[in-house]
Amino acid sequence: MLRYAQMQSTQQTETVMTSRRALLQGMALAPFASACSSGPRTSARNFTPSGLPLRRVIVSPDRVIRTIAGSRPFRPSGFRLEAESFGDKTVIHNYGHGGGGITLSGGTSYLAMELAEQSAHRRCAVLGAGAVGLAAARLLQDRGWIVTIYARDLPPNTTSNIAGGQWSPTSVYDDDKVTPQFTAQFEAAMRHAYRYFQNLAGPRYGVRWISNYSIANQPPTADNFNDRYADMYPELKNLSANQHPFAADYVRHYDTMLIEPAIYLPAMMQDFYAAGGEIVIREFKGQDDALSLSEPVLINCTGLGSRNIFPDDELMPIKGQLSFLLPQEEIDYMTVGNGGLYMFPREDGILLGGTFKRNDWTTTPDPEDTARIIAGHAEFFDAMDDPWSR
Ligand SMILES: Cc1cc2nc3c(=O)[nH]c(=O)nc-3n(C[C@H](O)[C@H](O)[C@H](O)COP(=O)(O)OP(=O)(O)OC[C@H]3O[C@@H](n4cnc5c(N)ncnc54)[C@H](O)[C@@H]3O)c2cc1C
Repeated sequence: MLRYAQMQSTQQTETVMTSRRALLQGMALAPFASACSSGPRTSARNFTPSGLPLRRVIVSPDRVIRTIAGSRPFRPSGFRLEAESFGDKTVIHNYGHGGGGITLSGGTSYLAMELAEQSAHRRCAVLGAGAVGLAAARLLQDRGWIVTIYARDLPPNTTSNIAGGQWSPTSVYDDDKVTPQFTAQFEAAMRHAYRYFQNLAGPRYGVRWISNYSIANQPPTADNFNDRYADMYPELKNLSANQHPFAADYVRHYDTMLIEPAIYLPAMMQDFYAAGGEIVIREFKGQDDALSLSEPVLINCTGLGSRNIFPDDELMPIKGQLSFLLPQEEIDYMTVGNGGLYMFPREDGILLGGTFKRNDWTTTPDPEDTARIIAGHAEFFDAMDDPWSR
């Protein structure tokens, strides 16, 4: 039954995606066709490598529809992914993903599931209902586990709902704080996560491939992250000035996935319920409270909340702030880097970021940051060459 429903939804997905792509590619071809007549004069620099037009984001304060802020759950030595025994109970920690928790959720949760499979039990509690908890819960269900989620907050009220959603396992650790063991775990998680989200591509989960333009004022360093993991960044290339429309000295292109939290998280909850899962709203006040659960295996996916449940002084927030502009259908690429700023085009608005404030526990937007993010993006997109709006 479920399989049939999933197949149907996949077919619908393909139809919708094909028609959207056909529409955008039609738009892309139109200027070439009209170049002979009176249409805008375009060149290859005005299109993504897939042939989609690179249009200007219209940035102005009166187009802002909301501004939000949240806390990335960061540990300088990287996320905590390990089993801990408490008498007859096993706790599998799966938290502290920093700025890459949406990205890595399917990967660290896969590894957490493998740790759980080493026990003789098939019944567990997942603590937390953000991207990490929901991925862990679904992966365990698919292995035949009976899963109950316990969480203080559900989507849309989790940090995972604040996330931008670029598939990018970055801002996850400090280079000088990680061990070789962590790096091996990180790379395994990254590879599982890369496959995990590819399986979910399409409107049902709000996951899609998209061109990224990385904007910089200096050339990439020799051992930069994208080059190191180039097999997970298709279409990775440095662009010369006649290959992009931006007023920037160094521009790189690659494709990543964009995961829209407002679509992905509810779909995961639906899947969890459909597979027989139960969700209990509950706040844990500390370790003893969590260990009082009846389940023999606990998967701890409480993000920043872990700090107060299973003591961990290393865990800290990195505050991030986003402003959303009215959606623009014609924008189908992302910009990152750009002096710490980034733009992701989502169904629920054009997302403009960026702030990274360590140890800032506040979750209210700072008006000065809002002004800087809007002004920085306005300057950048005003300087972009968009022949369709000349
Ligand atoms: C501005 C911003 C932009 C970001 N952009 C990206 C991005 O582009 N890509 C990316 O991969 N990541 C991004 N992130 C990071 C990402 O949001 C986090 O890493 C991720 O959401 C962490 O997921 P989580 O499930 O561990 O935590 P959460 O989403 O915080 O979920 C934690 C769950 O645990 C529950 N919980 C916590 N404490 C308790 C308690 N005491 N008792 C019971 N339940 C509890 C909560 O209620 C919740 O259900 C961004 C973050 C921010 C703030």
